[in-house]
Amino acid sequence: MALAPISRRRFAGLLGAGIASAALRPTPLHAVPSTAAATPPTPDDIVRLSSNENPYGPPPAAFDAMRNAFDRVWRYPDEAADALAGDVAKLHVLKSEQVLLGNGSSEILKLCAAAFTGPGRPVVMADPTFEAIGRYARAAGGDALKIPLTADHRHDLLKMLEAARLAGLVYVCNPNNPTGTATPDLRGFLSHVPAGTVVLVDEAYHHYADGDGYESVVPLIAEHPNLVVARTFSKIYGMAGLRCGYALAQPATLDRLRFHQAWDNMNLPALAAAQAALGETAHLERSRRLNRETRDWVIGELAARGYKSIPSRTNFLMTDLRQDTGPVIERLRQRRVEVGRRFPALPTHLRVTLGTRPQMERFLAALGEALSA
Ligand code: PLP
Repeated sequence: MALAPISRRRFAGLLGAGIASAALRPTPLHAVPSTAAATPPTPDDIVRLSSNENPYGPPPAAFDAMRNAFDRVWRYPDEAADALAGDVAKLHVLKSEQVLLGNGSSEILKLCAAAFTGPGRPVVMADPTFEAIGRYARAAGGDALKIPLTADHRHDLLKMLEAARLAGLVYVCNPNNPTGTATPDLRGFLSHVPAGTVVLVDEAYHHYADGDGYESVVPLIAEHPNLVVARTFSKIYGMAGLRCGYALAQPATLDRLRFHQAWDNMNLPALAAAQAALGETAHLERSRRLNRETRDWVIGELAARGYKSIPSRTNFLMTDLRQDTGPVIERLRQRRVEVGRRFPALPTHLRVTLGTRPQMERFLAALGEALSA
């Protein structure tokens, strides 16, 4: 048959020849050999410390779950989505109707902008913070009102509260990207935000957050119909390439998001992997511990070189180079080390993701060269 070699080649390109030949057989793929590496390969020897990924990858159980999902990919993902939503609900002691899965938490952010911002209904956001929500609001016809962080790099909740009265949406990133800082007392803030303004708290880095007054607002969902919490499998769960995140909120609030969402937005292997990863608490704990150790070490090394870092609660940190970061970022790139983009509100602070210890050694060496070039 003419078509068979073409599909065989396409599968071979995507999955490797061994998987492809098995995929053409009507038997499940459980026997596919595990290639689950604890440390994913770095393409072309580039040290990528720009996207706040977990360098230790997903737990092995997630790879197994994905392989087991291959023989079901001809079906729509309804059952797998319901199963993951159910487990997520259990994890947070909520009902399934209080969980909305997203194709990454980016989709949740975009849905919030679509549902709650528009002409005359701006989004209020910190500066600097994770910028995506501002762009999504503009796409919905709304403005972005940017409120500078306080001197200690936390959200200025008093100023955000004033602005909230005129806004459709308030975005709070906690802990904040790019500064890595936690903002305490969101409980008090939420009790003062007008009921007609929705507050989206982005807890992408929740699992890394330790101390400094950090507190998840998930337990406050019951009291606040205008609260949406976003979480992701892209960070500590190590699945940025799979695209899986979720929103937690009251059911009627999630209905307003769902209205803007594509049907069948999730893919089956991602759902299976995410569900398997939820139970792998030892893997999460290991990632958290390794991150903390590397973070303390890097901060110490930078301090020894005279660079002060903002205390970080996350898997990235910002260090003050006391010079514009733009050219330094470029010189690091030439040395095959990718770091975070330049943040105009903190132009002398470099954001670097915490990779493995050898990756951070490469970073420090390249930084030394970049600063003396
Ligand atoms: N929110 C924050 C604070 C982030 O830093 C990121 C990614 O870097 C995202 C959301 C988007 O993550 P994803 O769409 O991969 O879940």
